[in-house]
Amino acid sequence: MQWTVRLEARTSAGEVETTELVTFSRPGVVSTLTEIGLLLVETKTLLARLQASMLCGQVAEYAAHHRVCAACGILQPLKDRRTRRLQTLFGTVEVEAPRFKLCRCRQPAPMAEVTVSPVCALLTARCTPELERVQAELGARTSFREAARILGTLLPASPANQESVRTRTHAVALRIEADDRQAAAEVTAVRDAPDKAAAADASRPVVMLDGAYIRAVPGHQVRNFEAICGKVEHEGHPTRRFALVRSVAEQPHALLRAALQDQGWREGDAVTAISDGDPALPALVRSATGGSVEPILDWFHLSMRVHHVEQVMRGLCALEPPPLASLDLAQIDVERLRHLLWNGHQDKACEALGRITSEAKDAIVLNNPPLEANARRLVARCTELRSYIESNEGALIDYGERYRAGKPISTSRAEGTVNQLVSARMNKRRQMRWSPRGAHRVLQVRAAVLDGRFGHQALQLAA
Ligand SMILES: [Zn+2]
Repeated sequence: MQWTVRLEARTSAGEVETTELVTFSRPGVVSTLTEIGLLLVETKTLLARLQASMLCGQVAEYAAHHRVCAACGILQPLKDRRTRRLQTLFGTVEVEAPRFKLCRCRQPAPMAEVTVSPVCALLTARCTPELERVQAELGARTSFREAARILGTLLPASPANQESVRTRTHAVALRIEADDRQAAAEVTAVRDAPDKAAAADASRPVVMLDGAYIRAVPGHQVRNFEAICGKVEHEGHPTRRFALVRSVAEQPHALLRAALQDQGWREGDAVTAISDGDPALPALVRSATGGSVEPILDWFHLSMRVHHVEQVMRGLCALEPPPLASLDLAQIDVERLRHLLWNGHQDKACEALGRITSEAKDAIVLNNPPLEANARRLVARCTELRSYIESNEGALIDYGERYRAGKPISTSRAEGTVNQLVSARMNKRRQMRWSPRGAHRVLQVRAAVLDGRFGHQALQLAA
């Protein structure tokens, strides 16, 4: 059997032209399953020829239309015929780009000769926006090499090599970032908007921040560098992710500011920032908003430190033979710690930690060596927790109350973002090494892809 695919093109003038694209043939009576239906290789040929035919036809009509002088309606003389190559998802197409002598009626001077090339003016990039978008999306989702392989396997896209995927991903990232910076600048323009009084405390945007380490390329000054990842949540808005490598981001605060603005935040509105105790993170939010930020220390990080104290205490109580000096009072204090911190009684927690420490020190003096190591560890853990509480004094809240109000108290959701943004693409186990700039750019595209704002934005940008 044989199949021929013909393309019938009808120009706007009504002319019809038929082109034969491909012919597929199979044995009259098939013998295996592989002979049934269309094959990938045939599909690629078909798509490539269809694309070439359609594109060349469109460009030819465009050139013909622009050959007519817009002022007097006369055909402008042909100067020469050149070609231009355009990369598309369905192959590279060589199109004719004729140059015309500008109509005499529009020549700037009687003896001057100006040429125009309407096709070159149309083809502003070497590739179609769709090819760029697909390459960037795949490049953000998986390794550049893998992305190129997937494209090359399924489509006649060209070129499908990792270098072009990388270049396109970076180019798209730069535009996303520029767009964010522009959006951030616009917020400044509407400073002191009258509706800010309407921003109720209950609907305050929450920024959850967390850091992640990425392995650096050999030759870089440090082995690992940090990426800041986070999420902005605000009632009635889809969650928005953001990520940046501070050392290479042109305006790190602008990226966060654009994310906040996207969530309905306006200049002057208060923002809640939950982070792990690194003072640089709430500071970033402060510079993004330029105003009031309510910092909250992540409950999970605080709770982990309480857990360390509890664990050492349990070890002490399980010692055989039991310690001579009673640690009963210290044990009661340890059991209260979590409750005190959960309900916002940091002062009482610090007092309890002081009592536990002094009792543990007494126990070291009075008791036998087996206890000593454990008691010293208890002292160390308590000191650690106490200094953690003290250094985050302004960020400790009544967690219980906030939790009962249904508001977030932990960056656990931000940690999920770190996993989605960084770990899945830049995992150390995959032996991937990154330059801070490369990582930063991939993160911009990846955040946009995961948020579902990529397709729309990228097409808009490329237009
Ligand atoms: Zn003219």
